[in-house]
Amino acid sequence: MNLNELHNGDSATISRIRGRGAFRKRLTEMGFIRGKQVTVLKSAPLKDPVEYRILDSNVSLRRSEASLVEVMTEEDFKELWIDTPRKVTESTLRGPVVSRPGKVIEVALVGNPNSGKTTLFNRVSRSSEHVGNYAGVTVDSKEAIFNHGGYTFRITDLPGTYSLSDFSSEERFVREHILLKKPDVVVNVVDANNLERNLYLTSQLIDMDVTVVLALNMYDELLERKDRLDLGLLSKLLGIRVVPTISHRGKGIFRLLNHVIRVFENRDPDIRHVHISYGEELELSIQRLQELIRLTPAITDHYSSRFLALKLLEKDDNCAFLISEAENFMEIRDTAREEGLRLRSLFKEEADTLIADARYGFVAGALKETMKKSGANPGFTRSQRIDRVLTHKYLGLPVFLGFLWLMFHATFTLGNLPVTWIESGVDLLGNFLNSHMSQGMFRDMLVDGVIGGVGGVIVFLPNILILFFFISLMEDTGYMARTAFIMDKVMHLFGLHGKSFIPLVMGFGCNVPAIMATRTLENRNDRLLTMLIIPFMSCSARLPVYVLIAGAILPEQAGNIIFMLYMVGVLFSLIISILFKNILFKNSQAPFVMELPVYRNPGVKLIFRHTWAKGVHYLKKMGGVILVASLVIWALGYFPREVDYSREYAQLIAAESERGGEGSEAVVAELQRQMESEHQLNSYIGRMGIAIEPVIRPLGFDWKMGISLVTGFAAKEIVVSTMGVLYQADPGNGAYESASLQQRIGEQKYASGPKAGMKVFTPLAGISFLLFVLFYLPCVAVIAAVGRESGSWKWAGFVLFYTTAIAWTVSFVVYQVGSLFQLG
Ligand code: GDP
Ligand code: MG
Repeated sequence: MNLNELHNGDSATISRIRGRGAFRKRLTEMGFIRGKQVTVLKSAPLKDPVEYRILDSNVSLRRSEASLVEVMTEEDFKELWIDTPRKVTESTLRGPVVSRPGKVIEVALVGNPNSGKTTLFNRVSRSSEHVGNYAGVTVDSKEAIFNHGGYTFRITDLPGTYSLSDFSSEERFVREHILLKKPDVVVNVVDANNLERNLYLTSQLIDMDVTVVLALNMYDELLERKDRLDLGLLSKLLGIRVVPTISHRGKGIFRLLNHVIRVFENRDPDIRHVHISYGEELELSIQRLQELIRLTPAITDHYSSRFLALKLLEKDDNCAFLISEAENFMEIRDTAREEGLRLRSLFKEEADTLIADARYGFVAGALKETMKKSGANPGFTRSQRIDRVLTHKYLGLPVFLGFLWLMFHATFTLGNLPVTWIESGVDLLGNFLNSHMSQGMFRDMLVDGVIGGVGGVIVFLPNILILFFFISLMEDTGYMARTAFIMDKVMHLFGLHGKSFIPLVMGFGCNVPAIMATRTLENRNDRLLTMLIIPFMSCSARLPVYVLIAGAILPEQAGNIIFMLYMVGVLFSLIISILFKNILFKNSQAPFVMELPVYRNPGVKLIFRHTWAKGVHYLKKMGGVILVASLVIWALGYFPREVDYSREYAQLIAAESERGGEGSEAVVAELQRQMESEHQLNSYIGRMGIAIEPVIRPLGFDWKMGISLVTGFAAKEIVVSTMGVLYQADPGNGAYESASLQQRIGEQKYASGPKAGMKVFTPLAGISFLLFVLFYLPCVAVIAAVGRESGSWKWAGFVLFYTTAIAWTVSFVVYQVGSLFQLG
């Protein structure tokens, strides 16, 4: 029988895995191995994928993948196989750790995804790196330095991995960090909720013969379940010190660090190097290989020969290069092949399966002696209850869409209250400076450049914080992973992978981390495809533009317009994805093996902290790139001071003021307005604007909109700050104090040309502009991220080009067709 034939609630024992290669490895790491029990929990709303309970966690598989797992009833299995958990047999005392001179300890955090590594890292180093309740949050390494117990710790947070094979780029990354950077102590962060799977990774660390301290994290949840674990005995059996921690509350962390020091100083008597016993035949093969490897001391000085022998038997090519220097390299490789064949004819199994089985056997053996489960699991039960709604057959999708709708509406409506306050604050400041500073360039720069530009963007901080709040909520509770589960089938229709969904949602926050997050996708084509469409996920930097323009053209409909823009972005990304999948990437499938973590209540405080951490990033951008860009735009509009006017404004104004009398003030103001706007038109920026106008006129834009779009390449908020500066300097609608930027934009009229006197921002032109902003080239940081992550600048250039082409076409069609129907 195959796993996909079971019904909800059924349990069975795994008898065989038929898949091959990477897929099989991934299943193995998640605990799908012979003899383990698996239970069907439920299928996703669209029937596929299906959620299974394996070891102590929930893992989703597609039906097609489940069909590769053979199962049988427990009774049948017991008759066929005799399963004996292996005992920890051999062990040797750890040789003296060569302490480095100086008082620096290099520590690397290694562990399964979502075990709490980054939380621990943030605690000890007082950082605020990105944390979330799903796999794949940390995708590269972060380093921090701090002092403790007379030592300087240099600690590295690494991406989470289920094992150290060469299945995914993350696993290779972590393994290379351990092998090449050689940290003094590896802190293995282990999720106490699922020791069996987590200790599988530990067993590989044991084989690598590195110095390990084990942080038994999420200890609070183990206590809540009333499970009992003999920590002392477990330490002895593993030869590794086990320290319980509750990292999000900061508990046990000092003890952990003290143990790191003790182990580093070689003062812990329980620490030994344990040999996991792989059974007689495998041990023979290992020994044969070890003897050959040991002939080259240059290699064994760096790496454990036992570890290398195991890797060779596992056919791990990436590790084979470690011994490529050996003179007898060919002989080693041939021997490994020979031994592989010998084992296969003996056991009818590949060597890597035998090794994995033995590792799980070792772990099961150690846990059998030390762990007593109470049977209750409130965390799991709670999650199941929540999932009854959130991943429900019919409710799952509507609830999710409702959540998104709520998110965008809250962002706009709720966010707008404080926006008005900040706006008045900015206004007050501008007026204050205007009336209290003496006239001159410096005042103009401050009021028009800095306050007009940065002030124009900063007012949207509340909107952005609310958006970040919702994203943090999804990340910290564990809903994020569910969305991938719910959406896998849908994504499939569009040629995407369910896991692409998480980067896409993250893209609403900022495209840069979203592009990085595509690293969790194992298949390169899936990754590239996801990267190419992420720019259509409206990032938070585009939000200010949306809010500003939507509010200016159709204030009553603003919330809906914004929601619509997000949806149009999503829709387009899906269409484009189908296109690209068929044109650029030939059909290739990656498995959907993903863990669904238990729901956690992160607490209000934590969510606010994470929201704020993201907000700080936004504020830093204000003070940096946006400030600089605003000043540049201002200067380009301010200079040259001397331009040729069509009329002698200065004389006319002087004459008019002299004349005085009724209405003269209005005439002076009008003259001043005309002079200003003529000056702006003749400034550097005006000339640039006129130069690009032919390209954007068919889209219904004036030159100021065009310039704003160009400057948006540096960062999308700059579209707003540029408008702030450009429409600021143009007192076309009365004095500065009378109107907010939004009102000024709403009232903007063409000064000359065929449309003279007509509104610039008609609803049609506004929509056309918003669509352009939605689609056109992402900011420079995103382009750089695409270049870096795809490993090719060709793709970065491609993104630049194709997004802008789409933007232009869409805006052109919308504006021209709209004009035909006189919607403008
Ligand atoms: P990483 O993937 O290993 O870096 O894990 P994270 O640091 O991102 O944390 C994963 C999730 O577990 C987050 O939602 C944390 O708030 C939560 N978490 C971390 N440590 C603990 C702990 O000791 N107890 C509990 N209950 N939750 C924790
Ligand atoms: Mg992390």
